[in-house]
Amino acid sequence: MVTAYRHEPFTDFTLEENQRAYDEALAYVKKQLGKEYPLIINGRPVTTERKITSINPANTTEVIGTVSKAEESQAEAAMQAAREAFKTWSKWDPAARANVLLRAAALIRRRKHEFSAWMTYEIGKTRKEADADTAEGIDFLEYYARQMIELKPGIPVNSRDMENNEFHYFPLGPGLTVSPWNLPFAIMTGTTVGPMVAGNTVMLKPASNTPVIAYKLMEVLMEAGMPDGVVNYIPGSGSAIGDYLVDHPHTHWINFTGSKEVGTRIYERAAKIQPGQQHLKRTAIEMGGKDTIIVDNDADLDLAAASILYSAYGFSGQKCSACSRAIVHEDVYEDVLEKTRKLASEAVTGDPVQRETYMGPVKDQEAYDKIMEYIEIGKKEARLVIGGDGDNSTGFFIKPTIFAEASPDARIMQEEIFGPVVAFCQARDFDELIEIANNTEYGLTGAVISNNRAHLEQARTDFHVGNLYFNRGCTAAIVGYQPFGGFKMSGTDAKAGGPDYLLHFMQPKTVTDQF
Ligand code: NAP
Ligand code: MG
Repeated sequence: MVTAYRHEPFTDFTLEENQRAYDEALAYVKKQLGKEYPLIINGRPVTTERKITSINPANTTEVIGTVSKAEESQAEAAMQAAREAFKTWSKWDPAARANVLLRAAALIRRRKHEFSAWMTYEIGKTRKEADADTAEGIDFLEYYARQMIELKPGIPVNSRDMENNEFHYFPLGPGLTVSPWNLPFAIMTGTTVGPMVAGNTVMLKPASNTPVIAYKLMEVLMEAGMPDGVVNYIPGSGSAIGDYLVDHPHTHWINFTGSKEVGTRIYERAAKIQPGQQHLKRTAIEMGGKDTIIVDNDADLDLAAASILYSAYGFSGQKCSACSRAIVHEDVYEDVLEKTRKLASEAVTGDPVQRETYMGPVKDQEAYDKIMEYIEIGKKEARLVIGGDGDNSTGFFIKPTIFAEASPDARIMQEEIFGPVVAFCQARDFDELIEIANNTEYGLTGAVISNNRAHLEQARTDFHVGNLYFNRGCTAAIVGYQPFGGFKMSGTDAKAGGPDYLLHFMQPKTVTDQF
């Protein structure tokens, strides 16, 4: 446990004053849309010919910003800056490094709605979802800073007559952070500042859909006193500079969050020793999910439906933890399906700028096409209960969608769709509920809705996921409270926001002093 840490409270949007403050932040950000952003290498702006254009997925005519695009030569410059900065940053007092993060957290807290409003425009997050994303970013800064302060004295080991022994953690070196667009502030921040506060230097490659919110973090880190070259901001094509820096002999660690396809590629490439490389690369590889809510026959059915609703449709189902499978005991199957259908029919979809919107767009044309394709597959494999419609005339909108009577092996029960689609499936008894839940290559999150204690205890050991929840939904982990990461093909289970996270990016050294 990190003792001095408290998580950032969520904004109460039932209060008019908070809604109004958010409206003001949206208006403030709107005036800044369409600006140009450089790379930042060694603390200095670098402008390139080729650009990434970030657009609003709810209104595709709106440009959020135009961002310089790093190629191999800028990636190499970032590596050289990170190697140079490591010489001094790695020797800073851990508490002084932590102070940079604590100051950054304070700066963001003061401008919280502004950060959230950037995400409403850049990736289509509703107020509630954007607010949670910003709060989680603040939490990562606070939590990892305080964790580093607690690690500073090292861990006690035994000493004996005529001999003193010490055990301390040291950083690894320069490394690469590759982050996804779906928690474009929180995950990007956490996977950057964790290794950073541990004394490493970072090359940050944010997702190409969300480079502007990542630039906002850079501004804050620099304002908070981060020395030049400690974090280098290099948005660019994942396949071009990603491969280059993964393969680089001076890369010491790779902190990746994203799809299974890219994650497994990085894992394999990082294992290969390059000419001139004198270490093994550490990898934290956090990938996708096919997450399940189990509903037992002895369950609160309204709680079950409400849990499925927010877990399946929060941020349009674009969460690694999103519920895409509801596996329900046959005795209560029809009731749970009907209650969920009713809630889904009432969920307001549309522009996330509007106060009443429950669900905004999906991220881009590519995601829209992929999800609509899965909806077509679903129509062949199961019964469409609600939704299934899309509209991409002004933005990428897809209605909350439910399929019923899906068989456990159907593609919509096995493959990550990453959209607002949930498949229902029934089972005879609790053993079968668990068996179907485990019948996937992923093992990220899961939930059990049940009032049967014995069944919950059975799930505690037998439901094979990294984050298991009882009597609530399967999304919305909080830093320091629900350390997050998955089993099986969901990844290396590095447990973001967990008590031993920083150790993935450090190496312990034992010093024996013989008298
Ligand atoms: P993605 O396509 O794998 O992209 C993730 C990042 O990898 C992006 O920055 C991407 O850059 C980059 N990339 C692409 N090819 C690369 C390469 N060859 N080498 C290095 N980097 C490369 O995933 P996504 O679509 O952004 O995110 C959705 C996925 O993330 C889902 O599968 C979701 O479940 C998973 N996810 C997992 C967690 C978790 O904690 N387990 C959390 C959030 C999301 P470009 O943007 O330029 O392509
Ligand atoms: Mg992608």
